[in-house]
Amino acid sequence: MNLRCAFCQTPYTLGRTEKLIALQQMETEKLSHYDAHCPRCRKATPVERQKMEVTFPNWRDALHELEQQAEAVADAPQGTPASAPKPESVSAPKAESKPKPASSKTHKRSHTHKEK
Ligand SMILES: [Zn+2]
Repeated sequence: MNLRCAFCQTPYTLGRTEKLIALQQMETEKLSHYDAHCPRCRKATPVERQKMEVTFPNWRDALHELEQQAEAVADAPQGTPASAPKPESVSAPKAESKPKPASSKTHKRSHTHKEK
């Protein structure tokens, strides 16, 4: 949405993501306006929540989608490549699982096969 700085009259725009963040913030903090910061003088120009909602009527859906995406990345099930490549974590060692041949036989034999 297009804004104009109240102080230096610089026109600037709020992107979709920016609006989404703003609307989320207003929702959680129960605010009726958002302080959009001018890119030139960095002063805050209040934008009424209503006005922003008008330009982004389905923001709740968009936010919900965004949250789902974030969750999917956060607890990615194994095998799903996240944005950052993880170093392969140490998997369970496989070498240790050899079944030992029963030693009881040889043990037994040494005792029982004593012939006189
Ligand atoms: Zn300004």
